[in-house]
Amino acid sequence: MSTEFDYDAIVIGGGPAGSTVARYAAQKGVNVLVIDGRDPIGSPLQCGELVPSNEEMKRLCPDVPDVDDLFQTPDEAISMTCDQMHIITPSGKALKYRFEGLMLNRVVHDENLVTIAKKSGANYMVGKRVLRAEGNTVFLRDGTTLTAKVIVDAGGHNGPIRREYWDEKSTTIPVKFCLMDGNFGDAVELHFGSVAPGGYAWMFPKTGGANIGLGIQRSFAKGKTLNHYADNFISKYNGETTFNGAGGLPMSGTLKSFVKGNFMLVGDSAGMVLPSNGAGITIAMIGGRIAGEVIHEHLENNVPLSTYETVWKKQMGKVMKNSKRSFKIGSLMFRLPNWMLNLLFNRLTKGIVWRAVTCKRMFFIL
Ligand SMILES: Cc1cc2nc3c(=O)[nH]c(=O)nc-3n(C[C@H](O)[C@H](O)[C@H](O)COP(=O)(O)OP(=O)(O)OC[C@H]3O[C@@H](n4cnc5c(N)ncnc54)[C@H](O)[C@@H]3O)c2cc1C
Repeated sequence: MSTEFDYDAIVIGGGPAGSTVARYAAQKGVNVLVIDGRDPIGSPLQCGELVPSNEEMKRLCPDVPDVDDLFQTPDEAISMTCDQMHIITPSGKALKYRFEGLMLNRVVHDENLVTIAKKSGANYMVGKRVLRAEGNTVFLRDGTTLTAKVIVDAGGHNGPIRREYWDEKSTTIPVKFCLMDGNFGDAVELHFGSVAPGGYAWMFPKTGGANIGLGIQRSFAKGKTLNHYADNFISKYNGETTFNGAGGLPMSGTLKSFVKGNFMLVGDSAGMVLPSNGAGITIAMIGGRIAGEVIHEHLENNVPLSTYETVWKKQMGKVMKNSKRSFKIGSLMFRLPNWMLNLLFNRLTKGIVWRAVTCKRMFFIL
């Protein structure tokens, strides 16, 4: 479409957010380049690897259209499916819920998103780090400069445009996890209480193993390190550890705005993680689709890029608002001692707990 610039759109980062922007923009004819510092994109693994099934997504995010078009997870990217989530109280009691989830092979999942975007016509440049962007120009670490009409930061919570042009602070919780061989049943588990202060620990079973980890809020940790809590939790499970990983999860919800001039933020860089359950993959893809479609409309029909924020609010505004509120209430609750939490998590509150985790209003007035 553009002759003035090298590309119509440059997307920094080819994870779930960036590859989805590229897919939906390219399939409408936008000349888009994705630049990613990793080669291959998606490695090494930094994830718990759990996503809701498409049917579960339709229940969780009822205002998001065409869920089956957006999430086309191939069989080889699915390690196993589950139909139960257990919320484990500090005393070890399980509150059991029906939950249709997919345990991913996340690396294969992200590679598949790249393949779909390339088939739609997107161009990729991997193993190249973007230092910064200014106006219509993107500056790479190797000295290359490239230009585009629209520049998207899908580089995660520390993406270069987010870092330089947005000063809104958000809480990022540090996370550690491992892959372990063995048989861990077929229910996904979330553990709350002093095991993971201010956050939660997880055990997500996979075929022949599990993904086990936790995230904490440092201000809740009474001077103890993330390693201390992670070692403590992971050592409860028996099996050979085949991989160790770490990362950070933005937990403040979406930023106030995701568009400045010709810059757009998508995925973790815009805070598109549901703080009450840590879901970021599918939410980044919801944002990615909207951004990709709006970029096309902007280039073709001069629709303002801020339409992206308006459409996001229509599709995800309520879910994000409820999730932020649940996280705030949870953060207050999780300052309580284990014995109080054991009393609070019970048969009578079971429904409220589930509403909080699944981003519904917890009470009629909240
Ligand atoms: C340990 C951990 C466990 C998690 N578990 C889950 C889970 O079980 N389920 C779930 O739904 N979500 C989970 N999440 C969250 C989820 O991984 C993220 O929300 C999701 O990956 C966001 O996608 P994204 O495309 O915005 O960012 P990312 O997936 O982080 O992709 C960003 C890409 O940008 C590239 N990049 C960054 N900076 C630059 C630069 N300057 N130049 C070039 N390239 C750059 C990176 O190489 C990367 O490929 C977890 C996160 C962590 C850290």
